[in-house]
Amino acid sequence: MEEKIEFKAEVSKVLDIVIHSLYSNKEIFLRELISNASDASDKLRYALLLHPELAKQTGSFKILLEPNEKENTLTITDNGIGMNKDDLINHLGTIARSGSAEFIKSLTGDKQKDMALIGQFGVGFYSAFMVADKVIVKTKKAGDEKGYIWESTGADAFTITQDNSLPIGTSIVLYLKDDAKEFLEPIRLRHLVRQYSDHISIPIILKEGAKEETINSASALWTRPKTEITTEQYKDFYQSVSHAFDDPWMTMHYKAEGTIDYTALLFVPTKPPFNLFQPDRKSNLQLYVNRVFISDDLPELMPFYLRFVTGVIDTNDLPLNVSREMLQKTPVMQKIKKGIVKRILTELKKRSEDKADYQKFWESFGIVFKEGLYEPVEERDEIAALCRFNQTKEDALTSFDEYIASMKPEQENIYYLTGTDLQALKNNPQLEGFAARGINVLLLTDPIDEFWIQTYQEHKGKKILSVMHPGSDIEKIKLENEPQEAGLEKEVEDKLLKRIKDVLKDTVKDVKTTDRLTKSPFALITPSGMMSLNLERMMKAHGQQIAMNSDRVLEVNPRHQVIHRLAHLIDKKESETMVDDAIQVLFDQTLIAEGEPLKDPAAFSKRLTNFVLCGLD
Ligand code: ADP
Ligand code: MG
Repeated sequence: MEEKIEFKAEVSKVLDIVIHSLYSNKEIFLRELISNASDASDKLRYALLLHPELAKQTGSFKILLEPNEKENTLTITDNGIGMNKDDLINHLGTIARSGSAEFIKSLTGDKQKDMALIGQFGVGFYSAFMVADKVIVKTKKAGDEKGYIWESTGADAFTITQDNSLPIGTSIVLYLKDDAKEFLEPIRLRHLVRQYSDHISIPIILKEGAKEETINSASALWTRPKTEITTEQYKDFYQSVSHAFDDPWMTMHYKAEGTIDYTALLFVPTKPPFNLFQPDRKSNLQLYVNRVFISDDLPELMPFYLRFVTGVIDTNDLPLNVSREMLQKTPVMQKIKKGIVKRILTELKKRSEDKADYQKFWESFGIVFKEGLYEPVEERDEIAALCRFNQTKEDALTSFDEYIASMKPEQENIYYLTGTDLQALKNNPQLEGFAARGINVLLLTDPIDEFWIQTYQEHKGKKILSVMHPGSDIEKIKLENEPQEAGLEKEVEDKLLKRIKDVLKDTVKDVKTTDRLTKSPFALITPSGMMSLNLERMMKAHGQQIAMNSDRVLEVNPRHQVIHRLAHLIDKKESETMVDDAIQVLFDQTLIAEGEPLKDPAAFSKRLTNFVLCGLD
C-alpha cells in the first residue's frame, strides 16, 4: 500500500532553493549523505552498548557507494540505525533542526555562502535533489520488523510504501540528473570522498560490479601524531565536522595526561556559523570514548561563551555505555571542560599578540566571547584580558590593559559609554568633558555590553564606570582646552533650571547643571543604578513594556553660550514663548543626538522653522 504525504511548506521552499538556486557546489550532496550514513552508524553503535541484543541484526559498519551506469543511479548504503515510518515523516518531511524560516532568512544570495548554510541547517539530506530528479530511500530501523520505501521527486510530496524484506540500515538511491552524470565516475567519487569524508571512522567502500575498494583512510585523525598531519588535512577535517567552508582560524590538537586522559582536536572557525546566536547557545563539539562516538549534545563540556569552538574530544576515562544522566553528573566532564577552557584561553592569549590577526577573531566571535564576562565563571579576569573594545582615543581596538596604560596620572577609573551605533556614540555629548580632559573612553556597542557591565565592575583594581556617573577623579583632571565661558550666577541659574523644569515637566524627572559638557547645552542621563538609555531603547525595540522615560535627568551646561542667552532673556515678558520654545527645541535636539524618537516631530519642526526664520531676518 502506497501512502502519499505532502511536504511541510518550509521543506518545499528549501527544496526549491536547493534545486534551483544553489547549484554551483552540488558535489557537497555526497558529503551530506555520507555524513548521515556515518551518524546513523554511530547511533547504532551507541544503541548496541545499551541493547546488545540488537547486534545479531548487524555486521561490521560500512558505507557503500554503488554507481550504476546502466540505471543511471548512485546508491549510498549504510548498516546504521535506520528509520521507522515516524522517522521518515519527521526527518525527511520536515526541516530537522532549527526551522527553515531562519534558514531562508539567512540566505544571502551568494551561492558559496548559501551552500555553507545547507549543511549547517540540517537540510543536508535535501541536497540530494541537487543532483537527482528522483530519490528513493529504503530503510529499516534496528530492532524493528517493518521496513519502508520513501520516494520523492522533490516536488511537493513523497510516498511511503511498506517493505519488510529490507535489511537493517538505509539505502539511498539517487536517479541522477543529466548534468550530474559525473557522479557515476569512480575517479570523481574517490576524489570527493578523500576531500570531504576521509576521516569518517568507518570504511567507505566503492563497489563496481563485484569489485570492492575502500576509498577513505577511516582513521580517526585526532589519534594520529601531530607531526604526521598536514594543514590541509586539519582543514578538511574541520570543514567536515562543522559542515563549514572556511579555514579554521585556530587549530588545537593535544593530548592531556594527568588525572584525566583525553585527546582534543579543537578549532576556532574564521567565520561565525549561522547558529551562533540561537537561544539554545549549543556548542558544536563531539565526544568520543575510545574512538566511539557518544554525543554531540554536550552543554556540560563547553561554556556558552566558547560555543564557537568546534571539534572532537576523545577520552578513555568514561565507560562506553555512558548514559545522558551520567554525562551530566560525572566529574570527568567537569575536569575535561576545565582543561579545554584553560587551553583555549592560553592559545587565544598567544594569538592576541598579533593584533591584526586577533582582530579577525574578535570581529567574528567577540560578541559571544564577552558573554563570559557576564557568566559566573572563575576565569573572568582572563576573559576580560582577552576582550577588545572600541575607544575614543583612536580608531583601533583596545584592551583593558592598554586602556589602563593610557590613563591620566590622576585618573582612577575606567570609563565607558554604551550605545548601538559607533559613529553616533563618538558624537555623544556625554563624551565632551572627557575629550576636553584627554581621558580615553571605551565605546561599547554590542547588546551584551549592557549586561556584563552590570556584573563585571572592576578590572585590576580599577572600577569600570559609565561616563554618566564618573568618580571624583574627573574633577581633579584639568581641561586641556581653553577654559570656557564662566558659569551663571547662582540666582540666575536657579531661575533658569526651574523654568526648564516647568517646560519639560512631563518628560524629565530632574534638571541640574553639569561640568561634563563643553560643546552641547544639554545632555540626558539616567540616575546611577537605573537602566541606561541605551538598554531602555534596546528593550523597547524588543517589544518590552517599560515605564516611559520617567527617571531621566536633564543636564545643563551653564557655560554654554545658548544657556547664557536664555538666562539673559528669562525675565523679559515679550520673549516668554520664545524661551519656552527654545528650551523645547534644545531638548528635542538632545533626544535626536541620543537616537531617541521625538514625541511630536511636527511641533519640533515648526518651532525650528520659526527659529531659522528669526536667524534669516
Ligand atoms: P541532519 O543530519 O543535520 O540532522 P539531514 O537533513 O542531513 O539533517 O538529515 C535529517 C535526518 O534524517 C537526520 O537527522 C536523521 O534522523 C535522518 N537520516 C538521514 N539520513 C539517514 C540515514 N542514512 N540513516 C538514518 N537516518 C537518517
Ligand atoms: Mg546530515
